Amino acid sequence: MIKGSLQNKVCLITGSSRGIGAAIARAAAAEGAAVAVNYRASRQQAELLVEELRDLGAQALAVQGDVGSSGEVENLFVSVEQALGPVSLLVNNAGTSLRELVTNISDEQWDRVMDTNLRGPFLCCRRALPHMISTRWGRIVNIASIWGLLGASCESAYAASKGGLILFTKSLAREVAPCGVTVNALAPGPISTDMLAEELTIQECQDLAEQVPVGRLGSPEDVAALCVFLLSSGANYINGQVIPVDGGWTA
Ligand code: NAP
Repeated sequence: MIKGSLQNKVCLITGSSRGIGAAIARAAAAEGAAVAVNYRASRQQAELLVEELRDLGAQALAVQGDVGSSGEVENLFVSVEQALGPVSLLVNNAGTSLRELVTNISDEQWDRVMDTNLRGPFLCCRRALPHMISTRWGRIVNIASIWGLLGASCESAYAASKGGLILFTKSLAREVAPCGVTVNALAPGPISTDMLAEELTIQECQDLAEQVPVGRLGSPEDVAALCVFLLSSGANYINGQVIPVDGGWTA
């Protein structure tokens, strides 16, 4: 299974118990990274994934922690450092969605979206960067969304959080590039995961697929392949970019 472009690297993928994060964890492990599978609530899925990765010869660890809490992020990093070593590859993937009219969004719903999708990546970057800077090498990939580029009706909180993440990515990329750290974002289109299934009916998913130029929804593996490339040395000169993975939606 192991091919090697991420060998001797520790990769933390937030929200990787399922969906896109789990596919990134599999792809990073396949390239030889030691993988930390973070989850908030889906303990069983995270532990099953870790077992699967270990069976394939990878070093892997399941670690609980809400990315929106600075205390939990600190505990998460300490657990990863103790078990696997310092993190040099960080994928800020944990995310939550909200489909609601602005007039119906509660303070709590707004905060949940912002805490997970924007504060979380900030907290994880802040915690990961000192090691990356001291070794003058690190890779950060933030999982944004095409809705953060385009905006979307009834998705204002989600789109605002992802739009914020995109500008956070571009700003941080300029800030830390002189220290050997690159920061990029992926902007997936509609990807077939629990998140989409919770938001849309089967018919709505089919209608959406027909609007995508390639004629289908994306798979988590479609996103994972590019993410792992951005984590590898092949992407050394790619920095501050926001790359759509959307079957041509934004083309
Ligand atoms: P998903 O299937 O709903 O999975 C979300 C993952 O994030 C789960 O592992 C979940 O863990 C974790 N998570 C949620 N809140 C968390 C928190 N506060 N702290 C730590 N982990 C947390 O979602 P997905 O579709 O794979 O989405 C992954 C990323 O891609 C998200 O950032 C999403 O916004 C983005 N994205 C998705 C699509 C799409 O169409 N699916 C499109 C564009 C962008 P638990 O189960 O343990 O809570």
